Amino acid sequence: MEILIDRSSPTPIYLQICQQVRGMIASGALPPGFRLPPERRLAAALGVTRGTVLAAYRELRADALVDARVGRGTSVLAQRFHAQPSPAGDVPWNQLFRAAAARPQDPLVRDLLELSERTDVVSFGIGLPAPELLPVSTLHHLLDEVMAEAGAAALLHSPTEGHTPLRETLAELMAARGIRCGPAEVLVVSGSQQGLDLAARAFIDPGDPVVVEEPSYFGGLQAFRAVQARLLPVPADEEGMRTDVLESLLRRQRPKLIYVLPTFQNPSGHVMGLARRRRLLELAASFQVPVLEDDPYSELRYEGEPLPSLKALDEAGVVLYLSTFSKTLFPGMRVGWLVAPRPVVRQFALIKQSSDLHSSTPGQFLVERFIRRGYWAPFVRASRSAYTARRDAMLEALAAQAPEGMTWRRPEGGFYVWGRLPNGVSMTRLLGAAASAGVTFLPGRPCFIDEPGGEFVRLNFSHPSEERIRDGVRRLAAAIASSTERPRAGTPAPIETRPIV
Ligand code: PMP
Repeated sequence: MEILIDRSSPTPIYLQICQQVRGMIASGALPPGFRLPPERRLAAALGVTRGTVLAAYRELRADALVDARVGRGTSVLAQRFHAQPSPAGDVPWNQLFRAAAARPQDPLVRDLLELSERTDVVSFGIGLPAPELLPVSTLHHLLDEVMAEAGAAALLHSPTEGHTPLRETLAELMAARGIRCGPAEVLVVSGSQQGLDLAARAFIDPGDPVVVEEPSYFGGLQAFRAVQARLLPVPADEEGMRTDVLESLLRRQRPKLIYVLPTFQNPSGHVMGLARRRRLLELAASFQVPVLEDDPYSELRYEGEPLPSLKALDEAGVVLYLSTFSKTLFPGMRVGWLVAPRPVVRQFALIKQSSDLHSSTPGQFLVERFIRRGYWAPFVRASRSAYTARRDAMLEALAAQAPEGMTWRRPEGGFYVWGRLPNGVSMTRLLGAAASAGVTFLPGRPCFIDEPGGEFVRLNFSHPSEERIRDGVRRLAAAIASSTERPRAGTPAPIETRPIV
């Protein structure tokens, strides 16, 4: 009976145990009559207290999944739903899901996406491009062209690796980013989130270690958690991931992957310095650990000199490079891409095949034509200038409105301002106050593994207009001011509960 505990998960440990045992009972891996290990033994094996295991077993008893008898321990009961069909609407779904999948996923992103559609809410919560910037009429015209010229071919299946002309165009686009590759080293993916999922599924067996920056992109952390990776956080400072800490970690552990966002990191906005980039590559090459470079934002630089990507600097062939059109052109078409050595492209394509066969065919035709017809470079230039103005609007509004004690970074590019709340602000209260004031943001917590991160907020400035940004910062500042707790002397600070947005 193998149980994996994820200490960074918001789900209490007793529930993690309970849900995994429940899944094993549902799948038949633990048959009726199977004796669960005594509480004390399981507690020692998992490194948790006996009370935690007792609580998990109590839940299982309450669900009539196990029975406990003095002297005979806890054993699995025969399950009703195996013997007789349940009445309609009474299917025990949670018992039927795979044990790992039954662990509740953080609904934060889904909730933030839903809120971002509400016109009465200023959304700083999610990283979307500005709707006003999307080149709708150009795309309309290009889609007409695609339909007229390619006809049904643009609506049928396309190769799993991607529409061939798009792979060729992407290889050329990569040359402009200093990355030399051929179309065979490009895999089109359904958004870079799928690339993260494919990487997780291609490399990670349950319990395998993965190095991540702390803080990191929560969608990446989710993808690795979904395959039960063991996340090994390495702290990041203004120069990005601390390679000295990484080195000492690599001397003790053998991770399967190093996941990094070197340019305009999500959430912190940090840019990894050139010396760190080179050192990271040296370490990865000498310890033979692949680096997954997630790079959605590097085209969106508003000041300062661009740095070469890890992939552009990689001589040992250890970097898998992931990028996307979601932050520039449009997220809704779900077109992203991976640049990697051929064996990796082949392996990812095999896994992708079982997931979605291929990415959207019309989306790929459209992106390919948009780039080939020369719209890409001027479009990115226009986006940079609009986002510079939005970033500045947010920085100015924060300087004017933010409550005393709040600090934030000035990002040189990307989509986010990363802020630290004044001491004594309760995140739980703030989420409630911000929702009532009609403003959302991403709380820092899901971006951390070991550190609590409860004092951080990520504010997106690319999606709302400058006017909405000023209005939203005003609302947020008031919400923060009203969420400050002043604990009386001798009273312990309240324990923060997990935010539900
Ligand atoms: N990686 C990072 C760092 C991101 O910020 C995002 C979007 N928030 C993604 C991956 C996923 O983007 P998409 O799947 O839309 O391409």
